[in-house]
Amino acid sequence: MSGELTKRLNAEIDRRRDDLVETTRELIRIPTLNPPGDHYRDICDYLDARLARSGFTSTFVRAEGALGDSEKHPRWNIVCRHDGAAAGDCVHFNSHTDVVTVGEGWTRDPFGGEVDGDRIYGRGACDMKGGLATSIIAAEAFIAVMPDYRGAIEISGTADEETGGFGGVAHLAEEGWFNPERVQHVIIPEPLNKDRICIGHRGVWWAEIETKGRIAHGSMPFLGDCAIRHMTAVLAEMEDSLFPALASRQTAMPVVPEGARQSTLNINAIHGGLAEQEEDYTGMPSACVPDRCVITIDRRFLAEEDLAEVKGEMEALLDKVAAGRPEFSYEIRDLFEVHPVMAARDAPVVTTVGESIREVMGIDPDFVVSPGTYDQKHIDRIGRLKNCIAYGPGILELAHQPDEWISITDMTESAAVMALSLAKLLASD
Ligand SMILES: [Zn+2]
Repeated sequence: MSGELTKRLNAEIDRRRDDLVETTRELIRIPTLNPPGDHYRDICDYLDARLARSGFTSTFVRAEGALGDSEKHPRWNIVCRHDGAAAGDCVHFNSHTDVVTVGEGWTRDPFGGEVDGDRIYGRGACDMKGGLATSIIAAEAFIAVMPDYRGAIEISGTADEETGGFGGVAHLAEEGWFNPERVQHVIIPEPLNKDRICIGHRGVWWAEIETKGRIAHGSMPFLGDCAIRHMTAVLAEMEDSLFPALASRQTAMPVVPEGARQSTLNINAIHGGLAEQEEDYTGMPSACVPDRCVITIDRRFLAEEDLAEVKGEMEALLDKVAAGRPEFSYEIRDLFEVHPVMAARDAPVVTTVGESIREVMGIDPDFVVSPGTYDQKHIDRIGRLKNCIAYGPGILELAHQPDEWISITDMTESAAVMALSLAKLLASD
């Protein structure tokens, strides 16, 4: 690719700087909070009108009947498409439109889209309305420079990524939107930093573990069986054997941050015995031996591990505890699981975006893997489309934080990388 082309693309992006800022602000001002999943139709209507300006046609897809979908909170998604002058590959930019709860500690209006210097503030500025706006500007700049391109560009806005993506990308994948015969390259503009390409993520297993006991009067605990004491033994065994074993299990996956380059386990919640009472309850607790104790676990596993073995390891631990405690019984309930996903380092979208980062910024990109999952899992597992990455502007650590912001300079540089990648993938000659 000539430097001349990069220059022309950059000029088109510079001309659109105000448009990039305005588009980001308008997206932030639509408070698409999830849960519960507010304003999905409104943000799809906005994207429809916004992209119609540059010749895209839209399809609205409601994930009817999907997890989370209801008449009160319908899961609306949109796929906007622009066709080139001849047949060729389709490059698809996928962004989730939902944002997480605002939380405490803000000094800016979370849905105001305030601009201060190089920053735009708001819930979702970084994760990932800035990335969505960046992909729109990149596509428009590319089309202006290369109107006779081959193939097609799609930009989708999808629901529910923050709650698992079942009413969003999973639904689109089930409906064939990510079939490799109709889409060849996918870029998800999640905020991974403008010089980093994320090729996948670790696996996840969420489960509940319950220890069982027998209720009795608290003054005569020997007549019952304390489920919390059983759980304490489970937790002690985890401390003694499981956590050290997980820490020693290192992966060849380039996970960032580096602390996540191993197997991990989080205990999300623990509950046993009497339910917590309402705040206005002024009475005393009752005297009961707890008959159940439940923990929720979040086990992240590596490409080198097998999910059946991960589950088997936990069962073996519980059986070991059971061997030393005559009354002990337990139950494991699966909640959620996702296998690790990783695009090949030589996949076309990986190498193309890597070259574009080098040409636009003059630096070598980092190839990374995310500690947590995102919508690539559905594109990979349901859509069977492996040529997929996350690449977008924004500082990962700002996601879900108070005073979340995105840098306008990062967005324009990232737009240049995306536009140049389109030119490489969809060149007419
Ligand atoms: Zn995100």
